[in-house]
Amino acid sequence: MTLAEQFIELTKINSVSLQERRIADAVKRILQPLGMTVIEDDAAKKLGGNCGNLICLPKNYDSAKPSAALCAHLDTVQPTEGIVHIVDNERIKTDGRTILGGDDRLGLSVIIHLLKEIHTKNLHHKNFICVFTVAEELGMYGAEAVDLSPYNVTKAFVLDSAKRPGTYIKECAGCELVTLKFFGKSSHAGIAPEEGINAIALAAKAIAQMPTGKINQETTFNFGIIKGGSATNVVPDSAVVECEVRSLYREKINQHLSFIENILQQTCNGRYAVETKSDFVPYVHSSESEIVRDIERALTTTGLTPHGVRYSGGSDANVYNAKGVPAVNIGTGAQKPHSLEEFVLIEDLLKTYEVTYALIEK
Ligand SMILES: [Zn+2]
Repeated sequence: MTLAEQFIELTKINSVSLQERRIADAVKRILQPLGMTVIEDDAAKKLGGNCGNLICLPKNYDSAKPSAALCAHLDTVQPTEGIVHIVDNERIKTDGRTILGGDDRLGLSVIIHLLKEIHTKNLHHKNFICVFTVAEELGMYGAEAVDLSPYNVTKAFVLDSAKRPGTYIKECAGCELVTLKFFGKSSHAGIAPEEGINAIALAAKAIAQMPTGKINQETTFNFGIIKGGSATNVVPDSAVVECEVRSLYREKINQHLSFIENILQQTCNGRYAVETKSDFVPYVHSSESEIVRDIERALTTTGLTPHGVRYSGGSDANVYNAKGVPAVNIGTGAQKPHSLEEFVLIEDLLKTYEVTYALIEK
């Protein structure tokens, strides 16, 4: 089976977030005959899905030695039931009725093809494991649940960026979800408006003083959802504004949260509450770091010019970095992800394979 055939085969398996059983079982069916140990963790129970994360150990994996992790996720953002592929010499896409699921079947099929090649051709390689996560598209829940500590993982390469091969995410923003709650007092809007405190007006006064968009070079802020009130004749007693702050640096996120708190103090007379929740944590790797040297060496080996970029969207790499395992997200060329126009160039599929092999080649 060629890599392109492997990719098409795996994209036929419908497995959205928390419903990854079918794709996980397919992965097990392929890898176990190669002598690999496939461990399914307890993420299904933790997350309420039907499948856990898969940790795959090659036959000669040695837990006493440091290992690299090759990573992809098992879920697709939308169903791929009834997928019809359109393949020509250049690209693979669908007929436009379903997504292709190149995000992240591309990463998954490249790693699986590599494992098969290692087995059949007896390729020499460094010590490594593979980690296939569930529920990435919901917010990297599988990666959060996975425990890499038993496997001596010192670096992780995540094959899940829509950038083309050659590009990798060297610096990635983190994202903090912020809920602003405003508390008023309800009253009849026509008969006794003076007895009420209008929570929507409070929210409006406060958020009018909070600029949105690009706050500085590394930070953005957005109001995404606003809710409040029950009827036009009632002074609303509550309003909720949901927002997010993204930045490359945790301190800048904190600075912006203090700025928001100050405005609320000045405008709302104590009638507010702020709830924050980390969506994902930022990472920034220096050019001298081992992970950057490794990925750049692998890209150069395959004839690509390494291009380490700054990006604002999270991946499992953010989670592994937060767990203390240096990780980068690597461009695979799964283009226009999450859309019906999604496609993969066959040359990118092959290049991603070369890059991935170069990462663990001995
Ligand atoms: Zn993805």
